Amino acid sequence: MSEGVEHNRVTRRQFLGFSLAAAGGVITLTPRPGAAQDEKTKDSKTQEPRSAGQPVRWAFLSDTHIAADAENNYRGHYPYRNLEKTFAQIASDLPEGIVVTGDIARLTGQVGDYENFKKLLIPSVGKRPIYLALGNHDQRGNFLDAFETAAGQAQAVKGKHIVTVDAGPARFVLLDSLFLTNETSGLLGKAQRTWLQHYLQTCDDKPVILFFHHSLRDEDGELLDAPRLLDLIQPIAKVKALVYGHSHEYAFSDYKGIHLINLPAVGYSFNDREPLGWVEVRLAGDGGEFVLHAVDGNRAMDSRITPLPWRSR
Ligand SMILES: [Zn+2]
Repeated sequence: MSEGVEHNRVTRRQFLGFSLAAAGGVITLTPRPGAAQDEKTKDSKTQEPRSAGQPVRWAFLSDTHIAADAENNYRGHYPYRNLEKTFAQIASDLPEGIVVTGDIARLTGQVGDYENFKKLLIPSVGKRPIYLALGNHDQRGNFLDAFETAAGQAQAVKGKHIVTVDAGPARFVLLDSLFLTNETSGLLGKAQRTWLQHYLQTCDDKPVILFFHHSLRDEDGELLDAPRLLDLIQPIAKVKALVYGHSHEYAFSDYKGIHLINLPAVGYSFNDREPLGWVEVRLAGDGGEFVLHAVDGNRAMDSRITPLPWRSR
């Protein structure tokens, strides 16, 4: 780790996002000029002007489920191979950055799980910032040890890891719904919801997309405080979409005009109807186009584009 990185380090357990230089996997806090930047270190002198209305491309993925054993598989799906294909596709035309909505690790968030994730990440897409949310199969301590330098701005909520990102025409807020490792249900908790409410009331009117791991249905294994979250954000018009994983199902729905985007898993599915892969997002000020890239599973919907206009202010 370079001296500069040491010097710039915020508190090492305060972030989720990080950026890795391609050569040698050196962790850096300095994304390329024009790339997504965290709000604290943003430097207007190094940021290229972005013409209004020009879409910005991002890669969204979820549930990579990488194990320490690269041959680990489930229902005939090999998460390591699927992530390798996913990163190769992303690397062929690098987006601004990457967001992963949790379950990076196979089951219990082992050190070797995260090592394998980084082994695939660094040489392929490590030039771009990547922002990671925790899922119920991640382990907070091991995760933060593995991804210890931030590109996003960490937010202080005790025991939760929250990052905000200036993503061009939108602001991303990565929330932390990990409750107990290897238990299915998730929880944001009151402190995080209170933080979110304050944050949303005080940030400017740029469209906000919230990211977290857990899905929102009324089941014991999903986000337990989903109704409270939805009540909180519904009146705040700048919140345009929620993006999450967990179900290993690719689905779009809506809550009173707020888009609910359930990303497919990368690693494996629970049934043969579902695609496995990632979603390329073309973000503009008034909405986004979501393009499925299926690398495994049901590939019938590969390349399907779903346009989503944002609700009005
Ligand atoms: Zn999962």
